[in-house]
Amino acid sequence: MTPPSPGYVGRFAPSPTGPLHAGSLLAALGSWLHARKHGGHWWVRVEDLDPPREPPGAAEAQLASLARLGLHPDGPVLWQSRRHAAYAEALAQLLAEGHAFRCGCSRADLAATGGIHRRCVAPLPADASAGSVRLRVDDRVIGFHDAVHGRIVQHLGRTVGDVVLRRADGFWAYQLACVVDDAFQGVTDVVRGADLLDSTPRQIALQQALGLPTPRYLHLPLRRDAAGRKLSKSEGAAAIDGQPPLELLRAAWVALGQDPGHWPGGASPEAALAAAVPAFDPARIPPDPAAGAPLPGPGDAAGSPPRGCDGGHSLDRPDRG
Ligand SMILES: [Zn+2]
Repeated sequence: MTPPSPGYVGRFAPSPTGPLHAGSLLAALGSWLHARKHGGHWWVRVEDLDPPREPPGAAEAQLASLARLGLHPDGPVLWQSRRHAAYAEALAQLLAEGHAFRCGCSRADLAATGGIHRRCVAPLPADASAGSVRLRVDDRVIGFHDAVHGRIVQHLGRTVGDVVLRRADGFWAYQLACVVDDAFQGVTDVVRGADLLDSTPRQIALQQALGLPTPRYLHLPLRRDAAGRKLSKSEGAAAIDGQPPLELLRAAWVALGQDPGHWPGGASPEAALAAAVPAFDPARIPPDPAAGAPLPGPGDAAGSPPRGCDGGHSLDRPDRG
């Protein structure tokens, strides 16, 4: 077992758009095991910034599911709906330092560039509080190391464009809130689903603009059905309802690439989880099959898929020059 490193802080940050499902359980268990394996702390953060998409009581139901599964955070839950002042402060800093700008472009205005914002094509609204605020991206290329997928590279200017920080409807964008709160909570290791791999380069660009540290990243494979299709929230939610916690945890353990023979079981979820920590091997976590195009490199001549530290992926869609 890896010696304890008290400097490790991990988190699980669900959006309360419905009940905890098989996919979010994988992220919860993966981040919990990784934190415990490294002797670290594990926080839970409710990302409740989009009220129209959040059924009443969904966040409380998710927290109850986590408790039923024995996944207890090391401190109070952080609610993003109570963090508006922190996001406003970060946005003001970015605007004052020229990293962000107000924008009046609608989706329709950006149709000619496939929705990618490179420069404003619509006039600014006269009302200073109207329109959106975006991070200035310019021609930036961001690369980082993912503990499962290897080196990840994305040409932000070409494939993402200027990132929305505050939406035209006034809501905070996920990217800004996530970056501000990861720093606020002292998160050193982000372990989450591979559906957020594509968000990481823009979050790193935002960390750099705000002068915040960049955590280590590990993206977990997504739960898929027998045909390899990503489980929809409704399918995953249906599968988790009414199942015994120990069976759910064991299924998530196997989906994390761990040896089924090493799942310890136990009298309670808490006992099983505590016994699972020493057996957990992060090196066994498989990459997600949809994690971008392989990076070109000398080892690619045979077309073999890259893996772990030896490989890497480009998040730039090949159809874009
Ligand atoms: Zn614009």
